[in-house]
Amino acid sequence: MRNCLLCEQEFIPPVYFAQIFSLKKFRPTKICLYCLKQFEKLTDNRCTICSKNMENGLVCIDCKNWQSLYHGNVLRNHALYRYNAAFHDLMVAYKRRGDYVLREVLQELCFEYLKKIQFDYYVPVPTSPEHKKKRQFDTISAIYDDILTLTPLLGKKAGSHAQGEKNKEERLKTPQAFFIDKNVKVNENIRTGKILILDDIYTTGRTLYHARDCLQEGFPEAKIESFSICR
Ligand SMILES: [Zn+2]
Ligand SMILES: [Zn+2]
Repeated sequence: MRNCLLCEQEFIPPVYFAQIFSLKKFRPTKICLYCLKQFEKLTDNRCTICSKNMENGLVCIDCKNWQSLYHGNVLRNHALYRYNAAFHDLMVAYKRRGDYVLREVLQELCFEYLKKIQFDYYVPVPTSPEHKKKRQFDTISAIYDDILTLTPLLGKKAGSHAQGEKNKEERLKTPQAFFIDKNVKVNENIRTGKILILDDIYTTGRTLYHARDCLQEGFPEAKIESFSICR
C-alpha cells in the first residue's frame, strides 16, 4: 500500500507483467488510478507540428502563424496531455505554492515517453533568477533531472517576467530573454547533434521558440525539437 501524492488516499500500485521479469529498476507509481485518470491524454487527431489536439486539418492556427513568422522554420513539439483543470491545479500547487514533491507526479506522466525517444542533449527551459530564488528550486529542471541527463545550456536574464502572468497577446510580444550559458561545458558533437528542449506547458509557443532561436544561433547545424508535458 502507498499513499497517492495527489489525493493522499491509500492505493495498491499496479504490477505490470514486464516488471516481474525485468531486472531493471522500475519507477514506483506515485498516484492512484483515480487521480491519473483526471489527466487527459492527447488524442491522435493532432497538429503535426506542435501536437495540439484539433478537430480536423494537419497544422493548427498557432503553427501557421509561426510558419509565416519564421518562413517555414517551425519547431516540432512533442506533447502528451491536454492542459485541463486537473493540470491547472497541479501546476498551481507545484509552481505557485512551490510544492517540490509534485515534480514526481509530473515525472510519472512523461517518464515512459521520454525513455522511448532518443536525443543527444536535453536542455531545460530555465526559470528566471527571481523565481528560482522565491521557490528555492528550478521548476523545469526539477522535473527532468531525475529522468534524463540534462545539459543546462540556457540561462534567463534577470527581470524577465514569467509567461504565466501574461495574457496571450502579451506572451507573444515577450522579448527574447534567454542566453547561452558559456560556463556549461559541451562536447564538440553538439554542433550537429539532436537537441530536445524541455518545458512543462506549451501555451503560445513563444517561450519554446525563443529557446530554440537562442540555441540555433549558438549551434546552427544542430537538429532541435521540443517537449512539453501539456499542449
Ligand atoms: Zn489519488
Ligand atoms: Zn500546431
